[in-house]
Amino acid sequence: MTKKFLLNESEIPARWYNIVAEMPNKPLPMLHPGTREALKPEDLYPIFAEEIARQELNQTDVWIDIPEEVRDKYRIYRPSPLVRACGLEKALDTPAHIYFKNESVSPVGSHKLNSALAQAYYCKKEGLTNITTETGAGQWGTALSFAAKVFGLELAVYMVKVSYEQKPYRRSLMQTWGAQVTASPSMSTKAGRKILTENPTYQGSLGTAISEAIELAMQTPNCKYTLGSVLNHVSLHQTVIGLEAEKQMEIAGEYPDIVIGCFGGGSNFSGIAYPFMRHSFKGGKATRYIAAEPASCPKLTRGVFQYDFGDEAGYTPLLPMFTLGHNFAPAHIHAGGLRYHGAGTIVSQLLKDKLIEATDIQQLDSFEAGVLFARTEGIIPAPESAHAIAAAINEALKAKEEGRRKTILFNLSGHGLVDMSAYDQYLSGDLSNYSLTDEEIAGNIGSLETII
Ligand SMILES: *Cc1c(COP(=O)(O)O)cnc(C)c1O
Repeated sequence: MTKKFLLNESEIPARWYNIVAEMPNKPLPMLHPGTREALKPEDLYPIFAEEIARQELNQTDVWIDIPEEVRDKYRIYRPSPLVRACGLEKALDTPAHIYFKNESVSPVGSHKLNSALAQAYYCKKEGLTNITTETGAGQWGTALSFAAKVFGLELAVYMVKVSYEQKPYRRSLMQTWGAQVTASPSMSTKAGRKILTENPTYQGSLGTAISEAIELAMQTPNCKYTLGSVLNHVSLHQTVIGLEAEKQMEIAGEYPDIVIGCFGGGSNFSGIAYPFMRHSFKGGKATRYIAAEPASCPKLTRGVFQYDFGDEAGYTPLLPMFTLGHNFAPAHIHAGGLRYHGAGTIVSQLLKDKLIEATDIQQLDSFEAGVLFARTEGIIPAPESAHAIAAAINEALKAKEEGRRKTILFNLSGHGLVDMSAYDQYLSGDLSNYSLTDEEIAGNIGSLETII
């Protein structure tokens, strides 16, 4: 039985798929945080590279060319393999066929490089010399560090202080690739100084780190800010995942009944799902698309659809999305990349229109799935990716109960080799689940102002 489905370098996609152009209902407009009017690309030029700003609001072009320079860098690790998880199937004794797209083979260990390379390229092409960003657990900062080096840009990363101290290896990865990493909050920005003088022991948050990174970008000549998830252009860049997987499933002679991705801000889920969705829109394929989020941060399964800010401080445009409230403080689960209060605007509209589904996974179930996957397929998954694995296992067990042969495809968004302290804690029984009461969720959402 063939297990691995590979493509040639020449089959790296030449274009990204822009799902917005084909959605039955387009997302509501993003709003300028000051004027509350529909956002225009120009509104984003002070912060983002101009091509990125245009991609963000492009609702008409179905396909967007991948620059040859970016494709050339994709060759370092793309096309990524599609693998049939025969060992996992056997362990589950399921009639389901389980496939995974292995994005952990990128040099930084996750799918995030797919967008980091594109963003760094556009910044360089527009004559910028410096870029900034923030990072939580460190995966995005890591990806961007390598991408910045590849295209000759200087990168400053604000890393949430608690992660800076608890995840020293991600910090060293960024420094090895040449980025300047600062623990946030820091004394280097007004936003950071304000917080530190009020609360000198504050351990930081993504919201604060975003504010610092934006402030530095605005005050530095030839410098722009970049973001690693949530926004439309990031999802667009990630569609290389699904476009390759589509060809590979064809080689395998199958078509997925179910497509699954773990869900933080939505970029890897979008990447695996959107290219298949175009056949659901047009060809009437009855595929199910499942976003797997952590039970401790359940914006898709238990949040509300409304306008909210993308960051804690309220600096970003207002986004129409499923949210738990921009001031929601998720529990410190190990899947740091999934600890985000909201979802991208495209995915939110698709969920509202019931074109995709969401499921929530408890922390212990995710690690149990991760360990089973490691023992059957050999790869130690990122704690984030383990949520997708857990959802795939649930569906495979359902297929077994029903005695039906289903084809399941999930995205392995990254490996967990820099997250072994999390596995250590799981194996020694030191991890727990976190449940949220309806009152806690309602309380947080109730504090939001209503715009629609
Ligand atoms: C960042 C990250 C995620 C979550 O981000 P999305 O934008 O929701 O994909 C998932 N898996 C890994 C390995 C990550 O690094």
